[in-house]
Amino acid sequence: MSLLVESIFKICLFFMQFAMPENYLHIWPRHKFVIVASPNQDKSFNATFVLPMSIFNSLSKSEEILQFFQQYFPDFLSFVGSDDIIRTFLPSKPNSLVTIKCSTYVSSIGDMLLMGDAAHSIAPFYGQGVNAAFEDCLVLFETLKQTNFDIRKAFIAYK
Ligand SMILES: Cc1cc2nc3c(=O)[nH]c(=O)nc-3n(C[C@H](O)[C@H](O)[C@H](O)COP(=O)(O)OP(=O)(O)OC[C@H]3O[C@@H](n4cnc5c(N)ncnc54)[C@H](O)[C@@H]3O)c2cc1C
Repeated sequence: MSLLVESIFKICLFFMQFAMPENYLHIWPRHKFVIVASPNQDKSFNATFVLPMSIFNSLSKSEEILQFFQQYFPDFLSFVGSDDIIRTFLPSKPNSLVTIKCSTYVSSIGDMLLMGDAAHSIAPFYGQGVNAAFEDCLVLFETLKQTNFDIRKAFIAYK
């Protein structure tokens, strides 16, 4: 099982400049885990760490955490610094990445509809969640137009 370490490494301001080029996602892919950093308007980056639960559980002491980052992410370690790595990683509360598949998105009498992640979440690595959610909106809008904005009929047609 993978997990998303939500308490996020902040790669901070460096003389009011971005520490890395700002118009990119910065990705540190490793075989079983990955760090992804995205830029913020205050010139910092948020870095999210995805790794298997078994590895996360094996990193409970400062020395273990530092050794892990030195081995796999030496340049990331130099951006963030040992103290911040420890301070951020130790109290992290991981969240699971879930995949949701529904057999139907609509209640039998057409009074309730699931869209987007609620209906079909997938792991973020595919980069498709937002597209899929927008497509749901397009399809629903089409069925609303076809049914002259009768919501119940539109929901049934959407199904
Ligand atoms: C780390 C990560 C990276 C991702 N990268 C990408 C990417 O590169 N490309 C891509 O296409 N997708 C990506 N995704 C997936 C994408 O974010 C989701 O697929 C998308 O946000 C789904 O939109 P949604 O509106 O269905 O759900 P959400 O965006 O989750 O919106 C649901 C909203 O409902 C609110 N809510 C929840 N419960 C309640 C309640 N009880 N009452 C009121 N409000 C409530 C939540 O606060 C939230 O604002 C990524 C996801 C993650 C976690």
